[in-house]
Order: sequence, then structure tokens, then C-alpha cells
Amino acid sequence: MKTVYLDNNATTRVADEVREAMSPYFSELYGNPSSMHTFGGQVHRNIEVAREKAAALINADPEEIIFTSCGTESDNTAIMSCLESAPHKKHILTTRVEHPAVLNFCKTMARRGYRVTFLPVDRSGSLNLEELKASITDDTAVVSIMYANNESGVIFPMDQISEIVKSRGAPLHTDAVQAAGKVPVDVRKVPVDMMSISGHKIHAPKGIGALYIRRGVRFIPYIIGGHQEKGRRAGTENVAAIVGFGVACELAKKHVNTATATVRQLRDRLEQGLLAACPDTRVNGDTHNRLPNTTNISFEYVEGEAILLRLNEYNICASSGSACTSGSLEPSHVLRSMGVPFTAIHGSVRFSLSAYNTDDDIEMVLRIMPGIITELRELSPYGREVKRSF
Ligand code: PLP
Repeated sequence: MKTVYLDNNATTRVADEVREAMSPYFSELYGNPSSMHTFGGQVHRNIEVAREKAAALINADPEEIIFTSCGTESDNTAIMSCLESAPHKKHILTTRVEHPAVLNFCKTMARRGYRVTFLPVDRSGSLNLEELKASITDDTAVVSIMYANNESGVIFPMDQISEIVKSRGAPLHTDAVQAAGKVPVDVRKVPVDMMSISGHKIHAPKGIGALYIRRGVRFIPYIIGGHQEKGRRAGTENVAAIVGFGVACELAKKHVNTATATVRQLRDRLEQGLLAACPDTRVNGDTHNRLPNTTNISFEYVEGEAILLRLNEYNICASSGSACTSGSLEPSHVLRSMGVPFTAIHGSVRFSLSAYNTDDDIEMVLRIMPGIITELRELSPYGREVKRSF
């Protein structure tokens, strides 16, 4: 049975072009880029080509990019660098809806004596910018606010956020892991100090990421050792992944506008089709400022896990904001922060698309899903109760 993969915010398939570009680095081009000989030197040159491509995706200079092992490392590195650069400052400002790579790092810093402000969001998943402004103090060592949310797809207004944070003189990091490659991101227009990106969300392999560090911004390395990445990130480079990441960035940049339009059309068709076919269903989060590939839908009176298990029988992959399926014991902190009622959180499903999805994929979900929802509601005592009361 064909797999219908609608979980692209979790990870994406590696593009054929990426895999092909990586292949020689497992066989003939196995030199160490730090070696003096020509054999290693050619590998070094190809890392620099990849750096140019990664920089181009966000309109940065290549010297402003370091390669890391993943988005999580980029996030941890950026925040830690800001804290260590201003050891007398003890305040961190972030939001309640960050990915655990930022959220849990900040919680760890709180246990180490930092004061952390977690800004709330409203029902649409949006930040109050006045509250952001009022929360920055002279003691703020770093502001870390994500570009786009992995669960709701909501995009924060990074242009306004960076203007506010800059006007208060605080360093700004953004986790753009879900945004870069899906929507145009330009560090010249949105003057953040640091930005995290990750390979496996844009058709490169898992285990490769990058951190943008604006020229002139003080940076203190997190991983200490050899002189790789001009002393900014030690460890022998994951050459194949870096080269693959470069190709993925190049493809993403080339296709960001056309692919976005196609993916948005498919996403909208899926969303509208499900809303029309399934009563007591609604979309979570701002539907205007949103990633073009993401929809987070709550189906009242059913469990997200049950929906996913039924979809799984048809090889349809999505994810849920309820506990367990998300790999956590707690229901989604993002939906809870948005004030989504518990019944709706438990019945939430995130569909996230990529350019590899087709009309047939959407057709299949629209054919199967309404029946699954009706059936599960029939089985649920609460669902039956609700039906009877109408
Ligand atoms: N930040 C966001 C918004 C994410 O969605 C993810 C991954 O899901 C990460 C960070 C972590 O990236 P990685 O899996 O490359 O460590």
C-alpha cells in the first residue's frame, strides 16, 4: 500500500538530488577537510560551497554560517553564547510555545539561577508585542523567539519583533527550523543576531543543522575542541551531510515560491474538505500568518491517538497534539498555551505537507477520514452522549 506522508514538520524524505550529491563522500571523497593534502583539500572546498548555499537560503554571508549537528544544537549554542557573552545579565526572554530545544534549555537555565520569562500567546497562537517590549530589561541577556511554530504553523512577525528587541538593545535569536525553506527568510530584512536552521525539515538528512551568526555579534563556542568552523564549532565535519544540506538549501531557495503555492493549495483543499465533511471540527491557530504546509485540526469528541492509529491502517502518516503519540506524557504545550480546550487538544491532528505530496494523497485522506471520525465518535461514550443531546 502506498504511504501518504503528511508529517513533514517531524521530518522529510531526503531529496534524490541531495542523496546523489552526498554519495561520493562515503566512498571516493572520504578525506578529512582539515588535512594538508589535496585529497582532504577538495573536501574542504566542497564544504565551503555548501556554506555558500546555506547562506543564500537566508540571504546571509557564508562567513556568518556555522554547521552544527542539528537544529537543537543550534538553538542551545545560540542561547548559551548570549548568556556567556553577558555573564552579568541574568534574564532570558522567550515564549511558551517554543520547541523543547529552546523551552527545555531555558528551563535548565532557570534551574541554574536565570530568571526566565515565557511570554504567553493568545487563542490564535499570536504574541502580544506590547508585552514583549515591556518584558525586555537591562538585565535581558537574550531574547529567543521562534520564527514559525512546528505544531500550529503560526508565523510570528519577526520583522516587528526584531525591531522591538533591537530598539531595547537586547540580542535576538530565532529558531527558524520550520520557517527556512518553507517561506522566504531574509536576515537582511529581519535583523536577528542568530538564527537556527535544520536539514531534515527541508529534504536533507537528519543530524545536520546550521547557525547563522550576524557579523560583529559576539560569539562563544558551545562545542570545544579542534579548530573546525574557524574555531566556532569543534568536531570533524559531517561532510556528506553538510554537502547534502547545501544542495537541499539550494533546492529550497529555488522552489520556495512555486513549491509554497502548490503545497498551500493542497493544504487548503485538505483543510476545507475535512472541515466540510466532519462536523464539530476546527482549525487551531491563526490561519493567515501560517506556514503554507501546516494545518492543525481538532476533531471534538475523539482521541487524536485513535485517529492516528486508524489512519495508520491506511498508511497515512500525521501526528497528534495529544499525549503519547507526540512522544511525551503531556498533551501539546503549544495548544494548551493557546487556550485550546482539553477535549479539542485531545482530538487534534497535525497534517504537514511537502512538495512531494500530490492531489491523490489529499483525495485519499478526504475519502477515508470522515468515516474514521464518524466511527470513532460512535464508539466514544462522550461522542454518543453529544449526538443524543442534539
Ligand atoms: N525547532 C523547531 C521549531 C523544530 O520543529 C525542531 C524539530 O522538530 C527543532 C527545533 C529541532 O531540530 P532538530 O531535530 O534538527 O534537532
